[in-house]
Amino acid sequence: MLKVEKSRRGRRLKTKNIYDLDPERLATTDEHGNRVYLYPEDVKGVWKSRRKVFYWFLIGLYLVLPWFYINGKPALLIDISNREFTVLGSTLHGVEPILFFLLVASGIFLVAFATSLFGRVWCGWACPQTVFIQSIFLKIEALVEGKARERRELDQAPWNFNKILKRTIKWSLFTIISLHIAHTFIGYFVGPRELFAITMHAPTENWGTFVATMLVTTIFLLDFGWFREQFCLIACPYGRIQSVAMDENSLVVSYDVKRGEPRRGAEGVERSDEGDCINCYNCVKVCPTGIDIRRGTQLECIACTQCIDACDDIMTKLKKPKGLIRYSSENEINGKPRKVLTIRSSIYISISIIFVSAFLYFLNASTNLNLVFLRAKTPFQVIESGRTVVNHFTLKMTHQGTQTYKVNFAIQNPELKDKVLVVTPIHPTMVDIPEKKIVIFFKFSPQILIAGTRAVLVDVIDETTQQVVASKEVVLVGPAH
Ligand code: SF4
Ligand code: SF4
Repeated sequence: MLKVEKSRRGRRLKTKNIYDLDPERLATTDEHGNRVYLYPEDVKGVWKSRRKVFYWFLIGLYLVLPWFYINGKPALLIDISNREFTVLGSTLHGVEPILFFLLVASGIFLVAFATSLFGRVWCGWACPQTVFIQSIFLKIEALVEGKARERRELDQAPWNFNKILKRTIKWSLFTIISLHIAHTFIGYFVGPRELFAITMHAPTENWGTFVATMLVTTIFLLDFGWFREQFCLIACPYGRIQSVAMDENSLVVSYDVKRGEPRRGAEGVERSDEGDCINCYNCVKVCPTGIDIRRGTQLECIACTQCIDACDDIMTKLKKPKGLIRYSSENEINGKPRKVLTIRSSIYISISIIFVSAFLYFLNASTNLNLVFLRAKTPFQVIESGRTVVNHFTLKMTHQGTQTYKVNFAIQNPELKDKVLVVTPIHPTMVDIPEKKIVIFFKFSPQILIAGTRAVLVDVIDETTQQVVASKEVVLVGPAH
């Protein structure tokens, strides 16, 4: 598309292609720093087809997962208020902050590892921002307002009935979709059945959930409908740090400079000396962040592969080999071999393995039965005319797993087995909640004490399997001889 510049007398001075981007600023910003709205053109091609299938798989997964029940529980439920995390039918109770930290840290370093190998692959293939905008919001926009050129013209046209009608239809559809996405999102935190029940009541009965849902809806609506690439360019933290994770061996969407340059129309270059790039700007027209990939790898590139398909289409029409723009590393483009595992990527994967291992260790430890003996205010009582000492405790048994235990208690020390009696109110004791407290007594002869104390090991035995599921040392106290 040509931009015509005129003199004050209205004479045509020169023409400029609007896709010939200013080298000094982003395509999404004008000379005054105002936002320039983008109208990326649609594209067809192998990469688009692959992404389409993957995007709809992700959308399906996102929409279906909370409604999918395993063992009577949602496939994924993050109950923040109760610190419970349900995944594939198993619930972790009272999730410790350390587990959450290790999970997030593992995720960050795994993404950094993936970025060091494959560049901004997350942004182009799996980020909800890209997935929802490309698969749903841009489709609705094209359906209501037409192709890129028509959308641009509609935007620039004065407000009239047609524009108001199209905008109303578009934003109404955006709102319906955003409501649905937001309800599913909230469903991951309160449970889909509960959310469905809540939506059947007046908002005044569940103000908290209602306000949260409306807030999330508004964020999705404004982000996917209006803010779009601005989020990737100026707000996304991952976008800012990706350059640290990438190097010349990372596989990114690249333009083959050696093959493409000098491009058509380059000053002082004969047609016979031109490279394969015919300067059609199709790669720029389809770019959702408005960049020209021919200027090299840029922070703004979200690796969506749209420009690969656009250029491959041109190359096919010109009967030239595809791949002028392709997935490649800087080294490969410069004729050097690509190292898959570099020092940088090795460091990322090593740190990831450490964090994942620590997470699994703490996860395993947290699903075991943990015992805490809390001594009563009066440490001991002497009964039966001094022949028996009683120690009184509150025993707190906790575990984050799903298992229910029916347990009995026994003294492990062979020499004390028959000399210390463990007394609990109910035999066996049922541990069917994440945190169970019981009263427990130890009765023994003062003869077993050494200088008024004696350490004993208490075993918790699963009544069904007769296996020891936990043990803890308890210090018994009594009168010093
Ligand atoms: S689509 Fe290909 S041929 Fe056209 S400008 Fe981009 S790189 Fe050059
Ligand atoms: S340069 Fe290509 S891969 Fe990068 S964001 Fe633009 S269209 Fe997508």
